[in-house]
Amino acid sequence: MNPFVFVTALHGNEVLPSLALANQGYSQIIGNPRAVSRKVRFIEKDLNASFGTSGNSYEEKRARELLRIIPQEATVIDFHTTLSGKLPFAIVVSHDFVELAHSLGFNKIVYMKHNIKGGNALINHRNGVSIELGTHTDPQVFSRTLRVAQRALESKKKSHPYQLFEVYDIITKKGSYKNFALFQDGEESFYPVLSGKNSYEFFGLKARLLNTAEGNL
Ligand SMILES: [Zn+2]
Repeated sequence: MNPFVFVTALHGNEVLPSLALANQGYSQIIGNPRAVSRKVRFIEKDLNASFGTSGNSYEEKRARELLRIIPQEATVIDFHTTLSGKLPFAIVVSHDFVELAHSLGFNKIVYMKHNIKGGNALINHRNGVSIELGTHTDPQVFSRTLRVAQRALESKKKSHPYQLFEVYDIITKKGSYKNFALFQDGEESFYPVLSGKNSYEFFGLKARLLNTAEGNL
């Protein structure tokens, strides 16, 4: 039995993971069906910034509905794709789920200390991880989704090296950043995350590396 709740398409234009899971008969919760039907990220408001809010937009109502559907004690794996780069990575909002992200096969794990969703993302309200599998149109997202799903169901997890990053600020200056490649800006150096084209009103996030590439914290 799948010990996790798979959530897909919280953003309506991120449908490859939904299709991959459906194709193999995995059960999943489609986050934002109305946005999926219109092929847009959201109708009125970012659904993944709507959990725990009290407004009456379509997404805020849907967020409340999802929190009724997804049991409080559940652990979610929340599948996403992005505009901002090919490298897959996992996002956690608590160190408690680094191990889970690692066990799903991710070698880049981002701890969102600086909360870009104001505490209103799904994983601020349910245990689990959000995962970024590549760009919206990257054909590899399909197979990556299935590898993650298979790993989630394996009881014996293989260990592998990974890097743990901590987001501590946003990037406010335009520049040519490469995600997860150290960027030197005068005295300051940081690892850009979600830089380049993204769905946010900033140029990306600044992260520091918390462990060595060998995975020792
Ligand atoms: Zn997304």
